[in-house]
Amino acid sequence: MAGERIAAIMPAAGSGARLGGERKQFRLLGDEPLLLRTARVFAAHPQIDLLVLTLPEADHAEIAALLEAAALDVPVLLAPGGATRQASVRSALRRLPPDVDMVLVHDAVRPFIRAEQISRVIEGVRTTGAAALAVELTDTLRRGDRARFGETIPRDGLYRMQTPQGARRAWYEEAHAAAERDGVDATDDVALVQRLGYPVAIVAGGPLNMKVTTPADWELAVALWPFWTSMET
Ligand code: C5P
Repeated sequence: MAGERIAAIMPAAGSGARLGGERKQFRLLGDEPLLLRTARVFAAHPQIDLLVLTLPEADHAEIAALLEAAALDVPVLLAPGGATRQASVRSALRRLPPDVDMVLVHDAVRPFIRAEQISRVIEGVRTTGAAALAVELTDTLRRGDRARFGETIPRDGLYRMQTPQGARRAWYEEAHAAAERDGVDATDDVALVQRLGYPVAIVAGGPLNMKVTTPADWELAVALWPFWTSMET
């Protein structure tokens, strides 16, 4: 669509409880905070016009200084975080200027995202109205009660969801308003769009687009970083 404006929302208001309470978004990957690494990929993407970062208000001055020094290619707005990821995304939606037509949501803690993956999600939103990165399961899936295994779940047709997840702005706004009204809390964004009956296109993600959540994830991210940057050049 000519003149279409696309915003990327990055929720980054998690408490880092699974990483010992430390705010992993501010940990250094190479010589820059994780959050800034992720923001750079979106800011440099030719189709992204604007970023909205969601962080606790107490962190806004720190991130504003970081962003100023980083001199990204697109404007960055800050929104206050919410108690859940979904509330944080909703907070960012409220900050969007009126002329934004499409919204991508991407976890700030997924720095290993490629421009080409962002492009394919944008294309999926254009053709279907909503789209998300996902990876088909290859491991065997089984229930368990922490001590013993239970039933095996057929993995055929099962996906691990990743981000970015995108939709027409109007769909996200409608989906979030409906979720708030109905008291629904989801761990990803397109779940809210799907529950209204809208279609969501599957876009193939990849194993490197990991979410840095646990201490082991952090070790993996640090080990992967030099390889990742060498792949880009
Ligand atoms: O908690 P989860 O691993 O799903 O977090 C994914 C992303 O959502 C992270 O970037 C985290 O900072 C963000 N988040 C948020 N507000 C919350 C909880 C998580 O912005 N209340």
